[in-house]
Amino acid sequence: MASTTEISDAARTNYEPVIGLEVHVQLLTASKIFCSCSTAFGAPPNTHVCPVCLGLPGALPVLNRKAVEFAVLAAMALNCRINETSIFARKNYFYPDLPKGYQISQYDKPLAEFGWIEVPSVGGLKKIGITRVHLEEDAGKSLHDGFPGSKDATAIDLNRTGTPLIEIVSEPDISTPDEAYEYLTRLKEIILYTGVSDCNMEEGSLRCDANVSVRPRGQREFGTKAEIKNVNSFRFIRDALQYEIGRQVEVLQAGGKITQETRLYNANEGKTYSMRSKEEAHDYRYFPEPDLLPLVVNQKWQAELRRSLPELPEARRKRMIADYAITDYDAQVLTATRGLADEFESAAKAAKNPKRVANLVQSELMGRLKAKGLEIEQSPISMKGVAMSADLVESSAISGKILKDLYDLSFERRQDFPAVYEKEKPQQITDTSAIEKMIEDVIAANPKQVEQYRAGKKTVAGFFVGQVMKASKGQANPQLVNELLTKKLELGS
Ligand SMILES: [Zn+2]
Repeated sequence: MASTTEISDAARTNYEPVIGLEVHVQLLTASKIFCSCSTAFGAPPNTHVCPVCLGLPGALPVLNRKAVEFAVLAAMALNCRINETSIFARKNYFYPDLPKGYQISQYDKPLAEFGWIEVPSVGGLKKIGITRVHLEEDAGKSLHDGFPGSKDATAIDLNRTGTPLIEIVSEPDISTPDEAYEYLTRLKEIILYTGVSDCNMEEGSLRCDANVSVRPRGQREFGTKAEIKNVNSFRFIRDALQYEIGRQVEVLQAGGKITQETRLYNANEGKTYSMRSKEEAHDYRYFPEPDLLPLVVNQKWQAELRRSLPELPEARRKRMIADYAITDYDAQVLTATRGLADEFESAAKAAKNPKRVANLVQSELMGRLKAKGLEIEQSPISMKGVAMSADLVESSAISGKILKDLYDLSFERRQDFPAVYEKEKPQQITDTSAIEKMIEDVIAANPKQVEQYRAGKKTVAGFFVGQVMKASKGQANPQLVNELLTKKLELGS
């Protein structure tokens, strides 16, 4: 059988991929969802456990209010409708890291539904629907290696058992691996802004499963889907989808059938492998959790939570573009994290001229970062440094030319602007007689322009300022140059 990488573009274009994503996000509560055990990451195995999260007989769950609030905030940020009443349900299955033999989740009455987010796509912004956001508990972890007996046995760590999760299920609105990537990027950004999760993929705080099928273009019914599980980066999900779409097209082209199954992605080989046949919802024998009351989030509580929702990335970008006259691209970069946007805005506001801070970010900082292949988080010059440099230019303590030189030094030495400035303390020429001398030279060297000026063409003054600044290697105090130059030109030397 030919490798799927050989599937022709023509064959691919006869089929339309249909992708839906399920994202699990751990909520940043201090304690677990149904008991008071700590959720801290990295503790020695099986030290954050109690009868409730161990599923010992007779132990009863008590719902963590903070987990509900975090889930509601996330759902609101994803434009969902919050259901006033939602029901916890038992999802029954056996797995070694699930001591109760069931997971408490939500089923037919989830916390929130009917949301959406917008993602950039080929034809502009595309709305991707969010079917539901529901609350559930995490399972423990099976550790297959790293222990003395790992060759013959699997170890179990139940610290994670009972950590609060939200599951965010998208509509099958995603049509390409790139859109899936964008969806995940936006989703993560929004969740991070709400502050309800750190979305750390390495620590498993954000995990994604992808459902993907293909159908002949124009066909209404969906094809049989495969689920790709446990992929640990957005880039790998894009790659896994790319591979899987090709594989399915190839099977169908050859007259074969797609099996409904769960597949794992091997990032080293760039291929997906069949893991097990996919279970259906009815396999789990869901039923309402008898130990928990229906969850009621009434209108008053919803209103309170809505008020505590921070400004979200898209709205913030729009506002920042208006407030600071920055480009769309810069707004994207500056709002990449809430921390960075906060830092920029507080620096801009503290500076004498906020727009100058924005301008410097655009004209001096971004270009240098790009040239060095650095992300803004890796910038040697902090936003505070940019603000300080802006103020120095604003007060004419340094010229634009000196600022550029100092920025170059900052990047060379990987030192923040204030440190470089302190060390270099560029001496500005403020000595009136020295500047006067330069002005006289420039005037003497450009009689034609002097004539134009005196004939009334006052804009020529700019030319003289430029010449004097150049003669001083950018070090003359520009304000002083302006004053003295005007005097000289008006006086008729
Ligand atoms: Zn516990």
